[in-house]
Amino acid sequence: MENKPPIIGIVPLWDSEKDSLWMHPGYMDGIAQAGALPVMMPLCSGADLMGIAIERFDGFLLTGGQDVSPAMYGEPFREECGEICESRDAMETFLVRAAISADKPIFGICRGIQFLNVALGGALYQDIPTEFRSGLQHSQKPPYDTPAHSVETTGFLRRLLGADMVDVNSSHHQGIKTLSSELEPCAMAPDGLIEAVHMPDARFVLAVQWHPELANQWESSRTLFSAFVEACRKS
Ligand code: MN
Repeated sequence: MENKPPIIGIVPLWDSEKDSLWMHPGYMDGIAQAGALPVMMPLCSGADLMGIAIERFDGFLLTGGQDVSPAMYGEPFREECGEICESRDAMETFLVRAAISADKPIFGICRGIQFLNVALGGALYQDIPTEFRSGLQHSQKPPYDTPAHSVETTGFLRRLLGADMVDVNSSHHQGIKTLSSELEPCAMAPDGLIEAVHMPDARFVLAVQWHPELANQWESSRTLFSAFVEACRKS
């Protein structure tokens, strides 16, 4: 059993125009390169099927996607808030709570860090350009495998990456405004925006605001996916 690759449940992305679920291949590639089997999940939120997912999958990847509904953190919609996906919000609410109580590893990317923070009681900037004064480019133009800004690492992430400064890509217009009391920041942009979080009491709960799946060739991206997959092996 020990040599079997972990099976990772990946939250699908949703295309509202096509009313379709889809997956950026970089998420799959990052997981597969690290030695695990990536499987795209359904967007159901019922306890019956999701309970099976929590039991059978060895870890969960929270992907990028639409904005998290501000209703989840008790704030009115601002004009600048983007499209939301209620079925994803519901599915991930169940997933985050159940995975954490089962102590299954979670790795969050972009919307993933935002959702994790909201699910655990935090709040978001609905739109960085209008709510958070910054000279940094958080919404870079392609190609996305080029650095947009640096982050200063601390704690868990500094130990994991073995570097106190890391260049990252950046494609987000929302960000963490109030951090959940259950999370610790472990990377910060030069403008003070939190770019990575870690849950100290969990086996492995880590989320980053940047996009390792769009830069799978970077050493830092490989280290993140590998650490996640290694944590999933121990289930
Ligand atoms: Mn950024």
